Amino acid sequence: MTWELTEEHLDFRETCRAFTDRKVRPLVDGAEAAGTFPAELWKELGAAGLLGLVTPADHGGAEGDALAVALLAEELSRASGGIAVTVLVSAYMAGPHFVRSGTPEQQGRWLGPLAAGEGVAAIAVTEPGTGSDVAAITSTARRTPDGWVLDGRKMFITNAGLADVLVVAARSGGPRHGGITLFLVERDTPGLSFGRPLAKMGWHSSDTREVVLDGVEIPADAVLGAEGRGFHQIMEGFQLERVALAAMGLGHAAECLDLARAYVRDREAFGAPLAHLQTIRHRIAAMEIGLEAARLVTYQSAARLDAGHPEAAASVARAKYLAAVTANRIVDDAVQLFGGAGFVEESPVARHYRDARILRIGGGTDEIQLEILSRGMES
Ligand SMILES: Cc1cc2nc3c(=O)[nH]c(=O)nc-3n(C[C@H](O)[C@H](O)[C@H](O)COP(=O)(O)OP(=O)(O)OC[C@H]3O[C@@H](n4cnc5c(N)ncnc54)[C@H](O)[C@@H]3O)c2cc1C
Repeated sequence: MTWELTEEHLDFRETCRAFTDRKVRPLVDGAEAAGTFPAELWKELGAAGLLGLVTPADHGGAEGDALAVALLAEELSRASGGIAVTVLVSAYMAGPHFVRSGTPEQQGRWLGPLAAGEGVAAIAVTEPGTGSDVAAITSTARRTPDGWVLDGRKMFITNAGLADVLVVAARSGGPRHGGITLFLVERDTPGLSFGRPLAKMGWHSSDTREVVLDGVEIPADAVLGAEGRGFHQIMEGFQLERVALAAMGLGHAAECLDLARAYVRDREAFGAPLAHLQTIRHRIAAMEIGLEAARLVTYQSAARLDAGHPEAAASVARAKYLAAVTANRIVDDAVQLFGGAGFVEESPVARHYRDARILRIGGGTDEIQLEILSRGMES
């Protein structure tokens, strides 16, 4: 057993940190103000190998692991939740479905471009009427002589306005879990349209929209994976997605801890720096304990996922819950330590505070993680 990252993962974290400092941080304020992802970053991310961590080498990927995805998520989120989630959804929430379930043709068409930053992907599961209860989706897939016709609405879809291809969940027949299939829908398909970008509390530089499926005709080979297996594919995809979201929480928390440490050394009150007050120092120490605990559980969940550990799903649910809740507490503590300066919209701690909140909701809420962990107790 070891509690430390390997040299390889430490080096990779340095690569992610250096990339974030050099390429991402200078773009954050502009992206937040414009409410858009800086498109020039895609090629840079691709060239740095940061979009293909779970892509097979013969499609231009690095064949890395979930722990590497977690490290990338953490480092990008230190700079910006909105930029991080845009990247993570395309490369590590939608993209892996192509890796796991794509036909050779689907993989040949999409894996290379997604890893190179020449294509963007989204995943559309949530609907206006259902989110947590994935098995209740009502968008339909009707078989035709030439393929399928999709109808319905999808809600809160990250990257909808940017995506070249969407992984869409629809009901192809039968109720609940067994009746769902995943489809690949290309952006310019007639009948596919998008709402306006939703104005959100946080993640200002990410694109989130409603997706409308109005008689969307797709060919028979647009099925991704097996017919009727969509629910299981979505649940499998949630594992890496939740590790990435947990690690985003680590990034927000780590950045706020650094900012708070620097601030309390600088800021004076009652004739001395705030750091001279024991209550302030203890608050910082408690923030650090929370972050380290969440980090260990998150890295463990990633390692277990990589190892195919039998407890991996429980570990992932634990990490998603703990990291999201802990990050929210730490960003709140940071705002408190900054005083009025923490409440000003453009202060970094205010942005991390806004961005961290969604981590308790997206990709499975706190309550759903607790449900996963407590299932079966009643019998
Ligand atoms: C910014 C943003 C980006 C998103 N990106 C995507 C995306 O790219 N693709 C996508 O498909 N979806 C996306 N989502 C949707 C997101 O995954 C859902 O919002 C989330 O899963 C919760 O679903 P819901 O909003 O329908 O809430 P609901 O499921 O209606 O839940 C409402 C409340 O009830 C609670 N609840 C529900 N069921 C239970 C239960 N069994 N036990 C206890 N409590 C329960 C929930 O925890 C929550 O507190 C995004 C959402 C946002 C806000």
